[in-house]
Amino acid sequence: MSKEELILHGIGVSPGVASAPVFRVVSDEPRFTTRMIGEDEVTTEVTRFLNSLTVTRQEIKEIQQRVAEGIGQGDASIFDAHLMLLDDRMFIEEVIKGLGERRQNAEAIVQEVAAKHADVFSKISDSYLRERVADLRDVARRILHNLIGSDGAELDEVDSQCVVVAADLAPSQTAALQTDLVVGFATNLGSPTSHTAVMARAIGIPAVVGLHDVTAKVQPGDLLLMDGNKGMLVINPSQERLDEYGHRLEVRQEIATVLRELKDQPAETKDGRRIDLRANIESTTEIEEIHAQGAHGVGLFRSEFLFLSKRHLPTEEEQAVVYAELAERLAPERVTIRTLDLGGDKFLSHVTLPSEMNPFLGWRAIRLCLAQPEMFLTQLRAILRASRHGNIEIMYPMITTVDEVREANGLLDQAKGELREAGEPFDEQIRVGVMIETPAAAMIADVLAEHVDFFSIGTNDLVQYTLAVDRVNERVAYLYEPTHPAILRLIRHTVEAGKKKNLKVSLCGEMAGDPLMTPLLVGLGISDLSLSPSAVPLVKDAVRSIRFKDAEKLAKQSAKASTASEVVEKCREMIRKTAPEILELVD
Ligand code: PEP
Ligand code: MG
Repeated sequence: MSKEELILHGIGVSPGVASAPVFRVVSDEPRFTTRMIGEDEVTTEVTRFLNSLTVTRQEIKEIQQRVAEGIGQGDASIFDAHLMLLDDRMFIEEVIKGLGERRQNAEAIVQEVAAKHADVFSKISDSYLRERVADLRDVARRILHNLIGSDGAELDEVDSQCVVVAADLAPSQTAALQTDLVVGFATNLGSPTSHTAVMARAIGIPAVVGLHDVTAKVQPGDLLLMDGNKGMLVINPSQERLDEYGHRLEVRQEIATVLRELKDQPAETKDGRRIDLRANIESTTEIEEIHAQGAHGVGLFRSEFLFLSKRHLPTEEEQAVVYAELAERLAPERVTIRTLDLGGDKFLSHVTLPSEMNPFLGWRAIRLCLAQPEMFLTQLRAILRASRHGNIEIMYPMITTVDEVREANGLLDQAKGELREAGEPFDEQIRVGVMIETPAAAMIADVLAEHVDFFSIGTNDLVQYTLAVDRVNERVAYLYEPTHPAILRLIRHTVEAGKKKNLKVSLCGEMAGDPLMTPLLVGLGISDLSLSPSAVPLVKDAVRSIRFKDAEKLAKQSAKASTASEVVEKCREMIRKTAPEILELVD
């Protein structure tokens, strides 16, 4: 008799559909007994603990290397947080002190100290930092397995196609999943901003988290069907449902094949409006992906990741090498390098910043750079030195005043002067732009236009600052609406100001990668979109399916809408008519 179908709903954190038998991770928790130790054993236990740190460091570096080679440097940098935790002096000293004072074996003390630190982290109100509890637990679990001498690698036993079900999966476990066999995973715990979710998206398998007690509901031998778009997991799906999904899967594969063929086609509307599709990247390891997906050039190089993945501030030379590689490999296509955007939710362990009540409203991005002119000048010189191919552009983040642009341009002039004196060649005509990511910048775009060569609208922050919604706080995520009429008006205002001065206006927030939004953005007058390389085929398909005239009409009607959801509905309606295959993939 076939088993009863059971449908569970959680949070879809990585899209796609998959079906396979369950592989349940019973317990990956390290098992050990707490034991009292004699005074003469303390040194041995300390040595054992320190050795376990060395082995763990090695393991994490190996995983990081694999991720960097297989997925990209940006995602690999997640493991820098793990390596930093391993080097955390407070943690190490507390364990050593505990061994001497409490006289228990290293396993017991490590577990106790790690639990205490995790407890402190979990009480922090910042959701990004709270997520780092998972990183800490991941590292502690590895140290314990190494102390015990178990490999703890239950997941290594996977030997056939399966959907992994676990209470939780650590980022390092997710990164190490054998993607030729594991077709998806589902967990009791987890949230969309966790590193585990980021890893799942990066390795490209569907994932549903936050299913509460899925581990208790699955039995060995169960067949699972998961839908990462809908956040749904079906245990023992009916034949009817399997057929329906099988059909959807086939349709999706056919569409994916057709989309791949768009790679060498221009991103042009049916009535001939050309749209530049450039890539948002964080590392030179992603360069190949840009052309593979059919984009041309880089619209946003998030340079801070170069700083985040190092233990020291990168030198001028180190930076120049990276920027030059970008420029050379992509020339003559344009490469827009955004200057350092630290602060907010991105911090360096080696640059101590004062803790702030509202880091997104505080000492962030251009504000930090103007206050640390030496650091900023080093970056500006490095960018200039790499600019001799003539295809590099400089872009300042989080501008709110004209004075900031003047001051930044003043420092750029100083950097140019220093290079001229040193006889270093650079592009004298280098183009300079600002990100429009605060309502203030959008409102004074006409004034800013006097001082720059282009604008790039950063909707991720523009939405956050306009709607007063912390972009990493899941409690207010329901208010984070890029199609809010206020945002559309600010985009329109910026485009108009740019047009008057003949400036190019691009858009590089996540909104640029949502194919449903493509007609709206094109209709608002954006002619340059910068997006994650993997989103390019769908957005190109959307561009090629519409008429500019209709897109303009849509934008006009949307401007009259009173709510964000009304706008989304209009966008959906348009795509349903022009490129229904897109709905098949995103729904
Ligand atoms: C933005 O704010 O839209 C943007 C592209 O920058 P980031 O996401 O890096 O803040
Ligand atoms: Mg931003």
